[in-house]
Amino acid sequence: MTFAVKEIFLTLQGEGMQAGRRAVFLRFSGCNLWTGRERDRQRAQCRFCDTDFVGMGGENGGRYPDASALAAKVDELWDEGDRRLVVITGGEPMLQLDEPLLGALHARGFEVAVETNGTIAAVPGIDWICVSPKAGTKVVQRSGNELKLVWPQQGIDPKDLLGWQFDNFLIQPMDGADRDTARAAAIDYVLSNPRWRLSLQNHKLLGLP
Ligand code: SF4
Repeated sequence: MTFAVKEIFLTLQGEGMQAGRRAVFLRFSGCNLWTGRERDRQRAQCRFCDTDFVGMGGENGGRYPDASALAAKVDELWDEGDRRLVVITGGEPMLQLDEPLLGALHARGFEVAVETNGTIAAVPGIDWICVSPKAGTKVVQRSGNELKLVWPQQGIDPKDLLGWQFDNFLIQPMDGADRDTARAAAIDYVLSNPRWRLSLQNHKLLGLP
């Protein structure tokens, strides 16, 4: 299988329970909930996306011919050192992440994390699964390490998600024109519901990609 990659870069994880860790980000092209084109946003299943996942024109982007070539590029960007972490995101990573790629990354000593919308079941063997559910979609991946709910989202009641099998439940304020209102709503929610924890997009505060 070939892989359509938007970009690959070394940075710090900005969000969630692993915030602050050095990580190679591998962003696949494409998502099953939005085309990524502004003209389609209002009729998309997911309408608040803040990520450019269209095409393959980003840093180290392109079509990689196989799992081995893609894993080699991730390895090259990490360079030296242990505690190797690759965060596979998108777009929707489960459209492309398969067992050969997972195996090739493990063989190079990487811990493999994914950030998925949960509408496609995760490949077995992923080390860290973060699911960010979107209102109105059928989430089939209901277990993992962290559930990250972008908030507020009409059509989702966080209480309905607490029966899912996650180690951590995170509320993250929705970015956009109403970000101040969203931040206040998220703080209020966590203050009233201690099963949830606040997640901030630290990379935006720090000017990281
Ligand atoms: S599911 Fe994720 S990648 Fe896809 S459009 Fe929504 S926020 Fe963007």
